[in-house]
Amino acid sequence: MVHVFFSLLILIHFLIAQPHQKMDVSLLHENAFVADLHCDAIYRYLRGIDLSKETQGHVDIPKLRQGGVDLQVFACFAPAPQNDMEKNQSAKNVLRQIDGVYRLIEGNKNFLSLVTSYDQIGQLKEENKTGIMIGIEGGYAIENDLALLRDFYRLGVRIMTLTHWTHTDWADASGDSTTTFGGLNEFGVKVVQEMNRLGMIIDVSHVHDETFWDVINISTKPIVASHSCCRALSKHHRNLSDEMLLALAQNGGMIGINFEPGYLNAEFWNERDRLKKKLAEKFGLPRSRNERRKADPEKLKLFRQELKTETERLKQKYQIDVKLVVDHIEHVIQVTGSADYVGLGSDFDGISTTPIGLENAAAIPNITKELLKRGYDKDDIEKILGKNFLRIFKEVGSPL
Ligand SMILES: [Zn+2]
Repeated sequence: MVHVFFSLLILIHFLIAQPHQKMDVSLLHENAFVADLHCDAIYRYLRGIDLSKETQGHVDIPKLRQGGVDLQVFACFAPAPQNDMEKNQSAKNVLRQIDGVYRLIEGNKNFLSLVTSYDQIGQLKEENKTGIMIGIEGGYAIENDLALLRDFYRLGVRIMTLTHWTHTDWADASGDSTTTFGGLNEFGVKVVQEMNRLGMIIDVSHVHDETFWDVINISTKPIVASHSCCRALSKHHRNLSDEMLLALAQNGGMIGINFEPGYLNAEFWNERDRLKKKLAEKFGLPRSRNERRKADPEKLKLFRQELKTETERLKQKYQIDVKLVVDHIEHVIQVTGSADYVGLGSDFDGISTTPIGLENAAAIPNITKELLKRGYDKDDIEKILGKNFLRIFKEVGSPL
């Protein structure tokens, strides 16, 4: 009897374990549509780095192909203007980056393709190309003019974060210590409505909580937090609370999990911050990053060297790795009750350091591996890797 019992146990174990063991990680990853909702690689291209070759950075064409990335959002960054002159240069600044994205694609036609509508998605796998979606990071880019927003749409921009670290003239940002408008002002409401009408995805990463709630109440289309993490796991203003995750799910939107170690673990963020101040003092450098850039290059080199070594130590200490990224993915699934509202928003080339096991775009299959290991099935993994974002892209692009 005992023998029969154990045979039965082994059989049950075999039956349960078999589908996961049989599922090949690389095959599953290759067949899945993989979308990364945010990277900052275009500034490297504009600095003259050839992204068609293997580079030192996080994103280049060989790495995108190795990582099986089918759609990569290239964010064109408009920083918060420091004065009126800079304010009036925001659109031009972004236009130059959009030109960069076009030139990058034109120079690598066999590998890249501009994606502006959902209908183009099917061809990507057929033609073995990575789709590039143009995004804007920082609503300063529209220079408070809906005509410019429409022009950016015509140029192919399909997703835009309303703010960056600090507020625009119409939306509060998560980095603001106090709110200026209590979320969106009247013009901010118009921006949201116009983005809905055009079919441009509203990106709430970087916005203030109050702005998030205003957008969720006003938007008639699903919204996206393209590169943020979960606040319940890491108390950082760039991350979303459980209430916000639930509201996103109700709205049919999603969050792309950011790979920034400091968002994944706020303690790491705080300790690295203290470390930077300590090292700046040690090498007689200014505390502010902008000031530091102009300082003595020799001192700066020593500062950077030590910061790098110490950061690696902190990553080990706080176990900042691919598992932690999947913990954040899993948290969204637990809070919302399904795998329909989460995806990837690496922030590659915008983050100074990466989790262990996710060093660049080529390492993205490690997420698939970890999800499989945790028992997620093919359907859920495919949703997380890209299908969720495709669902939203399709819905936002459909007429109101
Ligand atoms: Zn960002």
